[in-house]
Amino acid sequence: MKVIIVGGGIGGLSAAIALERVGVQSAVFEQADRLREVGSGVTLWVNATKALRKMGAADGLLARGSAEARFEVRNWRGDALSAAPFARIESKFRAPANICVHRGEFLEQLARLVDPARIHCGARCTGFDEDHAGVTVRFANGSEERGDALVGADGLHSVVRALLHGESKPRYAGYTCWRGLAQLAHKALPTDLAYEAWGPGKRFSVHHCGLGRIFWFGTKNAPEGAADAPGGRKAEVLACFRDWVSPIPELIEASQEGILRNDIVDRKPLTSWGRGRVTLLGDAAHPTTPNLGQGACQAIEDAVTLAHCFGQGDNAQRILRSYESRRIPRTNAITRQSLRLGMLGQLENPLACALRDAIIRITPSAISLRFMESILRSDVPALP
Ligand SMILES: Cc1cc2nc3c(=O)[nH]c(=O)nc-3n(C[C@H](O)[C@H](O)[C@H](O)COP(=O)(O)OP(=O)(O)OC[C@H]3O[C@@H](n4cnc5c(N)ncnc54)[C@H](O)[C@@H]3O)c2cc1C
Repeated sequence: MKVIIVGGGIGGLSAAIALERVGVQSAVFEQADRLREVGSGVTLWVNATKALRKMGAADGLLARGSAEARFEVRNWRGDALSAAPFARIESKFRAPANICVHRGEFLEQLARLVDPARIHCGARCTGFDEDHAGVTVRFANGSEERGDALVGADGLHSVVRALLHGESKPRYAGYTCWRGLAQLAHKALPTDLAYEAWGPGKRFSVHHCGLGRIFWFGTKNAPEGAADAPGGRKAEVLACFRDWVSPIPELIEASQEGILRNDIVDRKPLTSWGRGRVTLLGDAAHPTTPNLGQGACQAIEDAVTLAHCFGQGDNAQRILRSYESRRIPRTNAITRQSLRLGMLGQLENPLACALRDAIIRITPSAISLRFMESILRSDVPALP
């Protein structure tokens, strides 16, 4: 059996590693001239770190990343609204609730676990043809690759998804997001603490991501596609969060060059992903707003489940449908919950915000625990 994976992001590389574990040959085709990730952090929740462990890719996460022992939601003035029950999660799952890592380093770590001869960069997929014996994938450079199955792990603007389901525009969630990395030692930033501060139509989230680095992201309600302010991104984010509790303005000030900006989008969940010998994985299948920090985590869960299904059978079409039926309900639920959480976080009306904050304050931690457990407890199978 040979599986062609289009896309060399977190999802595509995870799929290659997990397939290797079950003895299935794969080849990764990435459009960029080298594997790369954006320079920011990514939080890997315990469902993802457990899945990484199953595919033998969890070593070293803590060496360069940072485990979070506490997570608080605060208001923009710094008053705590709630503390997530991380200690109870840690004892229930017997692992840190969340580890924040540098995206580029994490991708490098995944790439090291894939035979370089099986990674082909500069290969932009443009189409595929399927027949009774296999699937042929076509690339912009004129080359073709033949395999038994095709996995579209080509992200939000997936070509494979468009060929299966038609072209469509991602769904704008109503807010834009800046991401940055800073080195800042501050007494209000102990290394085991992460937090997210909520204000009217804005949020600011702070996570340590190893080696003294702090990964932050800030959101703001904005029209879709709004241009950067003329003074540059740092000045714009600073103006947006200038009055927020210290050390938020200091963190923005201390940020490295290259603050990222993305309008936050997802896509309406699909009820079926693939057809015949073709399927989807990661953002190509279920692009999700980042409010639960689960997009990459779900791509990793997809990868392990896909490999498990390949380990169970020898009929490519049945394997892919079995993988999809295991993954679609969970990923669709997460996409919907994440969108709803974002709507709550981005409320702008002062009265609505006050009511929201009051409700968060009085919500018993047992309810937060149940909600978090429903996200973090996954049934990703073991690999041999
Ligand atoms: C602001 C923000 C914050 C986030 N924070 C978190 C977080 O903390 N935790 C978390 O779990 N998730 C987070 N996510 C989501 C996470 O980044 C994504 O879910 C994850 O990166 C998806 O990985 P992927 O491999 O499926 O797709 P991608 O990372 O998009 O990779 C797709 C790859 O396919 C390649 N490609 C595209 N088209 C083609 C083609 N035609 N041919 C060949 N190659 C192609 C691309 O170049 C790319 O390398 C966040 C997202 C955003 C926007």
